[in-house]
Amino acid sequence: MIVILKNGATDEQIDHVIRRVEAMGLQSHLSRGTYRTIIGLIGDESLVNKESLSTLPGVAQVIPVLPPYKLASREAHPESSVIDVSGVKIGGGNLGMIAGPCSVEDRDRMMRIAESVCQSGANVFRGGAYKPRTSPYAFQGLGEEGLKILREVGDRFGMPVVTEVTDPRNVELVSQYADMLQVGARNMQNFVLLTEVGKSRRPVLLKRGMSATIADLLMSAEYILSEGNSNVVLCERGVKGFDPATRNLFDVAAVPVVQGLTHLPIIVDPSHATGRPDLIPPCALAGLAAGADGVHIEVHDCPEEAKSDGPQALLPEQYKQISHQMRLMADLLGKTVSPLAKDAGGPTPPQPPTEALA
Ligand code: PEP
Ligand code: MN
Repeated sequence: MIVILKNGATDEQIDHVIRRVEAMGLQSHLSRGTYRTIIGLIGDESLVNKESLSTLPGVAQVIPVLPPYKLASREAHPESSVIDVSGVKIGGGNLGMIAGPCSVEDRDRMMRIAESVCQSGANVFRGGAYKPRTSPYAFQGLGEEGLKILREVGDRFGMPVVTEVTDPRNVELVSQYADMLQVGARNMQNFVLLTEVGKSRRPVLLKRGMSATIADLLMSAEYILSEGNSNVVLCERGVKGFDPATRNLFDVAAVPVVQGLTHLPIIVDPSHATGRPDLIPPCALAGLAAGADGVHIEVHDCPEEAKSDGPQALLPEQYKQISHQMRLMADLLGKTVSPLAKDAGGPTPPQPPTEALA
């Protein structure tokens, strides 16, 4: 961290800043330039109270040199992290292909959709059992019943399942059924929820809030990492734009920006980013071309009957086509769509405890 002093800061003010720094347990290095005087702080930055230094007389600015997301930063961990979702790897050249309906619906329909996306090459099945809805009158999800269906469907096709957890009180329950916990855009800064999923050992899919900066997203990831859960996959799902032509504004540049700042994988969600089935295939490919570690797409076999997000769902046949193109893109980029554990011939990955399924 460096402290930049105001032009004309007096010796007394400079001495006072140095004394405060030393009282915080750090050493200081004074550098007097022609126009500016700077104090460099040497030692453990976590001991520094930045706000208190900023208020001292004669101080112009206090600038951190290291990012505040210490555990998430690439400086802390130069190698790209590879997150293991019950045998499916995401990151470091392994692509996570997440597909499924917005909401978990009836069992037969889930079976049909899962079978088709699995055959098309998806490696994680998705579906929300707890839905964060703008309207309290809209379908809120099937709750635990939905979790049971999701688990059964995942087991049937050997696919890990990801589902959203909206309430810190449900983290334990959802962890009993799901291989991966989704924290949705609306909850990206629900710090109690982040702390709870951080205590769980399930991998977490953390979606970018619709008005969140990249630094905000990384600080939210830091909440999870700081609780000891290092299995975090980030997701760019579009931010609020000004133009209603698309549901959100797909920030494709966020992918390489995030990858420069953190070792955590980042996938893209062109379904929520665009809200338009015709735009999902080109944006999925754009995301991969930008370096994304996977793609998250909503698929439904009868969008007009979908309980949520029907208008943006791809039909299974459309998913098959884009899935083929994404594999071609993966080959071009020298990346691999991570196989399911049952297809990779490896040991069967640990499943969530099943006592709650009885
Ligand atoms: C979802 O995945 O269905 C969802 C609600 O996503 P988001 O939080 O990105 O809106
Ligand atoms: Mn949705």
